[in-house]
Amino acid sequence: MHQKNLLLVLLLVVIGSIFYYLYNLKLEREQTESVSSTTSQLQAVFEAKVIPQLGALGRPARGNWTAKQLEAMAQSQRETGYNAWLSERISPERTLYDMRHRSCKKLDYPAKKLPSVSVVITYHNEEASVLLRTLSSLRSRTPELLLREIILVDDGSPTVDPKLKDFFQVKFPDKLRLHRLDTQVGLMQARVAGAQLALADVLLFLDSHVEVTQGWLEPLLSPILENNKTCTTPIIDTIDYENLAYRRGKPSRGFFDWEFNYIQLPLLKEEAVAMPAPHQNPIMSGGLFAIGRQWFFELGGYDKGLKIWGAEQFELSLKLWLCGGRILEVPCSRIGHLYREGSFKVHYTDKGKSSEEKLISRNYRRVAEVWLDEYKDKLFANMPHLTVIQAGNLAEQRQLKKRLNCKPFKWFLDNLAQDFLQVYPLKDPGDYAFGTLQSMSSPELCLDRTETEPSRPQLSPCSSDPTFPSKPEQQWVLTNRWELRSGFRCLEVRNKSVDVHVYQCHRQKGNQFWSYDTKTHQIVFGQNANARRCLEVEPEKHGVTMRDCDPNQAKQRWKFGYQNNERLKHFWDNVKTN
Ligand code: UDP
Ligand code: MN
Repeated sequence: MHQKNLLLVLLLVVIGSIFYYLYNLKLEREQTESVSSTTSQLQAVFEAKVIPQLGALGRPARGNWTAKQLEAMAQSQRETGYNAWLSERISPERTLYDMRHRSCKKLDYPAKKLPSVSVVITYHNEEASVLLRTLSSLRSRTPELLLREIILVDDGSPTVDPKLKDFFQVKFPDKLRLHRLDTQVGLMQARVAGAQLALADVLLFLDSHVEVTQGWLEPLLSPILENNKTCTTPIIDTIDYENLAYRRGKPSRGFFDWEFNYIQLPLLKEEAVAMPAPHQNPIMSGGLFAIGRQWFFELGGYDKGLKIWGAEQFELSLKLWLCGGRILEVPCSRIGHLYREGSFKVHYTDKGKSSEEKLISRNYRRVAEVWLDEYKDKLFANMPHLTVIQAGNLAEQRQLKKRLNCKPFKWFLDNLAQDFLQVYPLKDPGDYAFGTLQSMSSPELCLDRTETEPSRPQLSPCSSDPTFPSKPEQQWVLTNRWELRSGFRCLEVRNKSVDVHVYQCHRQKGNQFWSYDTKTHQIVFGQNANARRCLEVEPEKHGVTMRDCDPNQAKQRWKFGYQNNERLKHFWDNVKTN
């Protein structure tokens, strides 16, 4: 009896186990089936529109588009600032031309010695196709051994497709970690949140609209291996907002000017000669960089008082240099960044333009107060609105500065900014002339920069006050940097000295070099004495053009609202003319 019972129990256990096994097998099959059908369904959603070979090798994506398709493109560009319609049709795994300097291709980095990285990408409302291309390029062009993980932080996006998350999880299951912030905290705090999750020793921050290229990672890591307080930046190439072409960007030394605009100066001579060796980058542009995790947190990450975006790249760059680190740009590493159309303004908050501007101004003020010492006044002279904005509590930042024994801003100017100070001097020597530029042959007409594209200056009826015209488009300055400037833009000559445009000022003379001949009243383009051209009115076209200089031609005579004759006497003292 006893034995019989035992046998029965055993039998039941065996039968139970068989059922359990079969049940699990079924469940597993169902699960894999549901996963693979999700993948293919989602694949259909996210990749079905792809046109093979479109934009391959990073070439401009061209096609024989119908009028309807062209309108769809234009519409997407109005909404996002780039051609999102086209982006959906370019393979997320498109090929890119390898534009590295040839010596970069020969460099050998022993992968076993290099540290692995946690890539941190934050996004707020990014287009799915663009985000997907960022991730795909990372996966296909990063050595497996070096990529520990990609941490994708969704910074409170209200409109990101929920299916996207499943898709990413299925497509990049091994390396991708998704982290959703329910309310938007802004890119600085979102990056810090991502960094806090990171497991690798090096953090690699990227924007959500980039494409990495072959061999991009190793050269960014080796300077950090040499010195763990180094932050490295790649050369940033351009992904065209209209046709998604991948275009070569230039190596540069980044700075901010005295209005906190980000600017790029040419490399120093010795740096240019040593290309593609890494060179110092005084201020990084901010979106794409590698930094040791421990060093990043020793520096306090980003100042917690900085909101949404703006000035964070200045804060981190200054902190890095002044508190014992360095930033190197590494020309052998190239990453493409999708820049939005110039006139497109992204609004990251829904609180309206003025409150967003206030927020950014507050960020600026914080950085200036903590890091610029007495030089902040130079900034405030150009940005008086910063002085009436409350910076909030800065105690923590000041403590950090003390604790890390950080150097004063003057050290930065003395050691890294000699070239910058030549172009953006602390004391401006004063401008040569300003006010309206009135045609002497058609005195009712004045030069007008116009605010619309294409960027050709025009002629319009003169404002009544020639020194301080009521129309800002008629206000011109012949600056101490030899530019003819109106607002933020400068007169620029292109196309073999024929066309004249208004374009962003670059302060590098060249195609923006102008002088005024006080005897002949000519506005003269060109530094080199043999290649000068003169600005001439075309009253019938309400426009201007460039012609050979002829002192007898009345159409080449102009009058400034105010001219500083003392300064004009010495105009050519410090400029070469051959
Ligand atoms: N971003 C974010 N939260 C914000 C604002 C921006 O996560 O509140 C992300 C944005 O999606 C992008 C990165 O931060 O991936 C940098 O922003 P953006 O590209 O607009 O800066 P830009 O390249 O224009 O300087
Ligand atoms: Mn960006």
